Amino acid sequence: MHDIVRDTSLVSLKEPDMPVDLSADDGGQAMHRFISEMYPICRSITGDGVRKTIDLIRKYIPLTTCEVPSGLQVFDWTIPLEWNIRDAFIKNGAGERVVDFRKSNLHVVGYSGPVKARMSLAELKPHLFSDPDRPDWIPYRTSYYKAAWGFCISHDQLLALPEDNYEVCIEALLEPGHLTYGDLRLLGRSTDEILVSCHVCHPSLCNDNLSGIAVATALAQHLRNRDHRYTYRFVFIPGTIGSITWLALNQSHVGRIKHGFVLTCAGDAGSVTYKKSRRGNAEIDRAWSYVLDQSGHPFAIQDFSPFGYDERQYCSPGFNLPVGVVMRTPHGKFAEYHSSADNLDFVRPDALRDTLEKAIATIEVIESNGYHLNQKPFCEPKLGDYGLYSAMGGLSPPDYQLALLWVLNMSDGHNSLLDIGEKSKLSWAMLKQAAAALTEAGLLRPVEPKLASEGHDPRLAGLA
Ligand code: ZN
Repeated sequence: MHDIVRDTSLVSLKEPDMPVDLSADDGGQAMHRFISEMYPICRSITGDGVRKTIDLIRKYIPLTTCEVPSGLQVFDWTIPLEWNIRDAFIKNGAGERVVDFRKSNLHVVGYSGPVKARMSLAELKPHLFSDPDRPDWIPYRTSYYKAAWGFCISHDQLLALPEDNYEVCIEALLEPGHLTYGDLRLLGRSTDEILVSCHVCHPSLCNDNLSGIAVATALAQHLRNRDHRYTYRFVFIPGTIGSITWLALNQSHVGRIKHGFVLTCAGDAGSVTYKKSRRGNAEIDRAWSYVLDQSGHPFAIQDFSPFGYDERQYCSPGFNLPVGVVMRTPHGKFAEYHSSADNLDFVRPDALRDTLEKAIATIEVIESNGYHLNQKPFCEPKLGDYGLYSAMGGLSPPDYQLALLWVLNMSDGHNSLLDIGEKSKLSWAMLKQAAAALTEAGLLRPVEPKLASEGHDPRLAGLA
């Protein structure tokens, strides 16, 4: 029998211990500093690198650390052995480290087994990986599910390696242990959940994946300080095997997840890309599209594809959760992807801040979206009598007056505020203000969304 260890010792941070607020309006500087704290750590899908990273996140938010033992079956997969590495190098005949793990953890193929041997250049070469297209960068390679060992070096260095008697050493352990992940639940007024997921398994790579960790942590800090309708679930997991494990262990209440997104590649200079959930028209898909459209900034929307990050598991057909992906330049579309050039200079504080602000705006839409019923649906009510209309003359009405008309006209129980936002292209703040004022004046009544799907005319029900 396997025991899953949950560390519940840290229930909440005491206020005097509260660290820097990563969500503070500082142009993203604190998030960038947090990335530089995590940057040196050698992470993989299991091992102390993930533990150290979870511990760093716990300085900001009260994550629970979960340890799942090697060998546990999770759907079609098995929790792998735990990998830990202390040192690795290639020394030339003169005893000099020509490749040194201490200088960059990208030098070792992730999950390499231990090795200690002397060999010629010809024997070494099948274990060396480089990228001829980017000859001065170190590529990032892993071999999680096939026993192997190897080193990654720049192509320039590979070409310059002379014939020699090399000493090769990888001081790594692959043994039964645990897969580690972090989990945080922020209770809201409803038990319905919003899932925010990011992967924590890449070593010294900033955009993929430290930017996602930083923005998710900042978002959790932002939400912790506020009242919210939904319960939020933040998971910090190793890619693929982590989400499979999390879904296997949480299968019984996955149904509570009503919205969600994976956060990754959140800090490069490119504009935001949102990849839709498998459902394609989930409220989260529409909310992100609306917020990006409203932002006035360039953006891209992608349809779902079963290739990418952990959305592949959340959106597998058995779960089909409404979970999309938020990124800036998509993985594989920036040259620095999975290389030593995805470094602290490649992620920009202002881009991290922009991703965070858009995530907060989208959550605001989801939090305050709802259905209303016009209480005076036969012709327009005389708004001036309710103090809601200013003299317009011949000019087109200003946005707020337009928002009042849109909300009144569309609030038949079938259109949510988000539907009205999509149709009117008016800002969320304006629509919310209009709905609140109309409700205050007795012209609008909030109704449950189920009225819209029950098939009867809710307008008539409201008049009865
Ligand atoms: Zn990656």
